[in-house]
Amino acid sequence: MPNQILIEKYARLAVRTGANVQKGQLVVIRTTTDAVELTRAVAKEAYLAGAKRVHLIWNDEYISRYGYDYADIENLKEVPQYSIDQYQYFVDQGACFISILSPIPNVLSGVDGKKLQEVTYASQKALQFFREHTMGNKTQWTLVAAANEKWAAKLFPTMDVKEATEKLWDAIFKACRVDLENDPVETWKNHNQYLKTITKKLNDFNFKALKFNNSIGTDLTVELIEDHIWAGGAEVAVNGVVFNPNMPTEEAFTMPYKWGTQGKVVATKPLNNQGRIIEDFWLEFKDGKVVDFDARIDKEALEGILNMDENARYIGEIALISHDSPISNMDILFLNTLYDENASCHMALGRAYPMNIKGGLTADIQELEKKGYNNSLVHCDFMFGSSDMKIVGLTQDGKEILVFENGNFVI
Ligand code: ZN
Ligand code: ZN
Repeated sequence: MPNQILIEKYARLAVRTGANVQKGQLVVIRTTTDAVELTRAVAKEAYLAGAKRVHLIWNDEYISRYGYDYADIENLKEVPQYSIDQYQYFVDQGACFISILSPIPNVLSGVDGKKLQEVTYASQKALQFFREHTMGNKTQWTLVAAANEKWAAKLFPTMDVKEATEKLWDAIFKACRVDLENDPVETWKNHNQYLKTITKKLNDFNFKALKFNNSIGTDLTVELIEDHIWAGGAEVAVNGVVFNPNMPTEEAFTMPYKWGTQGKVVATKPLNNQGRIIEDFWLEFKDGKVVDFDARIDKEALEGILNMDENARYIGEIALISHDSPISNMDILFLNTLYDENASCHMALGRAYPMNIKGGLTADIQELEKKGYNNSLVHCDFMFGSSDMKIVGLTQDGKEILVFENGNFVI
């Protein structure tokens, strides 16, 4: 059992700093049966923060797996109208969203890749309006994680499972800057301030492109979209409320120009995509598009992501994280993107965040697409940072500025 005081502090952080629940606002917690304890703590904190009502959407990863094993693909692909209506209701009511994940590693391994892809596609398509709503920051939303025994056992296989779970909780608290002494809400104010200084510097440079190089074969140029905005830490929703979409977060990220990525990127951490773990993979880009790729483990799953729709082969996010960060320094591979992406420079295949371009939050998506915004059902982050990563920024007038040396910011 994790320390109750820490769980309460963590829940309070998710509610106050993460979603920043407003008095009288509807709160939707999207969660899993592996995170019951944290879910209750978050729900309680949400009411304490003045939530009008707290609604829950539960998932159970094992039961989802049974669906893939025993149900017909056509039946699985059907998204019932009431489920769409429910999300529409939450959107219309101006609810904020708190997602709690607690992954079961490999829970979907062996599931037919095509089945998985088609079912995911159907559900993402039906709920696209909801994703556009949250990704467009029309309301506050946040994503946090809870430990579970299966996840902990996978990360620390030589330990007793109870100890392993304890260790994973400790790592989560540490990564989220929650400890017995501090007020994490205050600590996060400082952290958000630090991220703001980094993003300000990057915005002031207004780079045309970034060049990435390291010893394991990454040799990549990522052109940035015109009028891009670097973001990191707290964000302001369209409703005016400041919130933190990811906890933890260490990244400064922006929008690439859809057709402007060239060269090869070699991943430095496994990618856990819907319970399937892709390892030792690389991608080759030409004019923004993935034209070649390979993976030592589960190439099929990688192919599934790339083939999800026509724009899944283009990237929508490029993120810089110093190798010397709290998560990276713990040197734990979490096998979960929320954590691992904050230990390493990463990019995302698929959809871009509208907030990463000037005027993007209020612009029409079709207009943004013409400028080089990538729109896709996929947003899949993978990690490629390393301790020897060098990044050079090219300014609009052709000057070269060293941004990263030996894995860390030098600006
Ligand atoms: Zn990111
Ligand atoms: Zn991302």
